[in-house]
Amino acid sequence: MSNTIKINDNVYIISTELLNTSDWLSTYLIIGSKEALLVDPGPSINIENLMEVIKTEFGGVNIKHVAVTHIHLDHGGGLGKLVKLLGDVKVYVHPKGVKHLINPNKLWEASKEVLGDMAVFFNPPEPLEPNILVGLEDRSNIDLGDINIKALYTPGHAPHHISYIVEPGSMLIAGDALGNLFNGRVYPVTVPPFDLVEYVKSIDRLSQFTYNVVSVAHFGYVEGDTEILIQRVKDKALAWAAVIADLIKNGYDQPKDIYNELLRRDLELRYVATYREKYKMFEGTSYRAVLGMYQSVKKLVGLQNFRS
Ligand SMILES: [Zn+2]
Repeated sequence: MSNTIKINDNVYIISTELLNTSDWLSTYLIIGSKEALLVDPGPSINIENLMEVIKTEFGGVNIKHVAVTHIHLDHGGGLGKLVKLLGDVKVYVHPKGVKHLINPNKLWEASKEVLGDMAVFFNPPEPLEPNILVGLEDRSNIDLGDINIKALYTPGHAPHHISYIVEPGSMLIAGDALGNLFNGRVYPVTVPPFDLVEYVKSIDRLSQFTYNVVSVAHFGYVEGDTEILIQRVKDKALAWAAVIADLIKNGYDQPKDIYNELLRRDLELRYVATYREKYKMFEGTSYRAVLGMYQSVKKLVGLQNFRS
């Protein structure tokens, strides 16, 4: 089963039923008059299902371009497998991501460390040939003729994170720069290594533009009044940071205790933890988010003590 959402005549969000849920990863199919672009195809385990959905629902679509918001396995782990099936394509990524796609060993080892069983379930990434990779500069464009996709650097979730603005239609593909959205609940995507300062700067950067549609990777989109979602994610990130800084100053030094305290105070986090973690594969995902935020805030609190 899959879930395909039409945003406009040229842009679709496709979700396969990975991890037993059809609202886990937004993959985007952007169809220009001659060629199409796929954004965030997902991990290796996702690729066969994704290609099946595209074949069934979009017949002869001519995918010549594949872009990722960042190289984490849940977004780009399947690139190697996908390219083998698609043949002649270009793959767009932040320049810092290029070497990790050519040689994914380090990426795989780090993913196993951070994601544990989930990484193993995703399957390892396969290497890409250097000649198909394009390192995207900030504000550069992927040109599909009648459709333009602008890359904006949005570090914080990862140093090599890119968001994309699709015109016409003013749609923001935020990736993981704007948090998770599940059944209307919002929380920042802060798995380690997370950088709070960069993350908030990136949110401010994204809020300088206006959008008809804003979409996040996990999962879905909002249409109209998009600035509300952007503001909510920023507020939530700063609220978590303030609570955590306070707990650290009060002697909390165990991430588990900090997580439990945040869970007690934040209804949205509690909802997502309960809703998601009934699936075994999601166990620990909310904890990992808080852990990344804790590590980043701890560094900042340390700097503050040093200065005063
Ligand atoms: Zn993600």
